[in-house]
Amino acid sequence: MIPSLLPTYNRVDLAFEQGQGSWLFTAGGERYLDLAAGIAVNALGHANPDLVEVLTRQAARLWHISNLYTIPQQQQLADMLVDASFADTVFFTNSGTEACELAVKMARKYWHDKGQEGRTRIIGFEGSFHGRSSAGIAAAGGDKLTKGFGPLLPGFTHLPFGDLDGLTNALSEGDVAAVIIEPVQGEGGIRPVADDDLKAIRAACDAAGALLIFDEVQCGMGRTGKLFAHEWSGVSPDIMMVAKGIGGGFPLGAVLATEDAASGMVAGTHGSTYGGNPLACAVGAKVVEIINDPAFLEDVRRKSGLLRQKLEGLVASHPDVFDAVRGSGLMLGLVCKAPNTDVLTACYDAGVLCVPAADNVLRVLPALTIEDDDLNEALARLETAAKTIEGQGT
Ligand SMILES: *Cc1c(COP(=O)(O)O)cnc(C)c1O
Repeated sequence: MIPSLLPTYNRVDLAFEQGQGSWLFTAGGERYLDLAAGIAVNALGHANPDLVEVLTRQAARLWHISNLYTIPQQQQLADMLVDASFADTVFFTNSGTEACELAVKMARKYWHDKGQEGRTRIIGFEGSFHGRSSAGIAAAGGDKLTKGFGPLLPGFTHLPFGDLDGLTNALSEGDVAAVIIEPVQGEGGIRPVADDDLKAIRAACDAAGALLIFDEVQCGMGRTGKLFAHEWSGVSPDIMMVAKGIGGGFPLGAVLATEDAASGMVAGTHGSTYGGNPLACAVGAKVVEIINDPAFLEDVRRKSGLLRQKLEGLVASHPDVFDAVRGSGLMLGLVCKAPNTDVLTACYDAGVLCVPAADNVLRVLPALTIEDDDLNEALARLETAAKTIEGQGT
């Protein structure tokens, strides 16, 4: 018999009743150190007092009003994001997937309105993830996401990760509307695109006149120690998808774009019932205010250095369990030698939460606000997990 919850998730048998900072508590009172942060969503930790305050204050005033009307919280957050980024304009969604939908529509509409109706192809990269909708799975490609869901949305092709020659060739065909890429692949196993490669991709898009879409749903919002991951490379996209961290746990996503890239999206071309509602935008504005503070981002970079050093030590002292550390900022991946699912189980037993990813990686994605003491405790618990694996003689 089918469970009453559609069984699409591989859930672990753990239920949490409460969270505080980087800690989660079960109903039975067991504590878990959270290095998953809801998959890079709880950027400011659990039950962050500033976010609780802004959410409850807004909840007592107005939850929802519809985009038929002016929403001051939405305007405020858009202004903040425009001030803080390459973008001239912002559309709010409820998720990263919805941000992908709009990014794809925006890129195609751009060329349509320029009189190049045939310019519809979107190029993505293998190992990427852009959400579970029809556009999201088509953009990412790969059997794991797409098998059985055909016919897929047409007009997407995929290149191996880092295939710059392939990109130049594809762009030379003249039918490419846009290139979509995560500056740091998340689900794909914490694979950062080298800064020089991002620069080369930008240059190739410029040479061919194609739009460049960055998917910063996972790597954005301070995760890498800059507000947006692409800032490290010095190049910016034409369109960018943001979600996860921007709501701190409240569902919120956004598409940021330049005036030119957004030029096709005139009144009536897109919309959302909930997207940018007062609750989400009140929380989002507080999240952006907190993260986009030079001192906050500096501290993320400091903690990132500390954590990375500790993880390198962990890998060095458990060479049968781990192979390497990679990533950027507080978006780190432990490349495992033992099966990552086994290591994850040992982590749960040791009271620490990580997230599996492709390429036999365990993601370490703590709250950006994690305390130094908790980083030390995290390492102690990861050590315990590694010893458990060693004891199993893998
Ligand atoms: C999570 C994720 C998405 C999809 O976001 P949802 O909010 O789950 O719809 C898209 N792109 C990337 C890079 C992600 O990590």
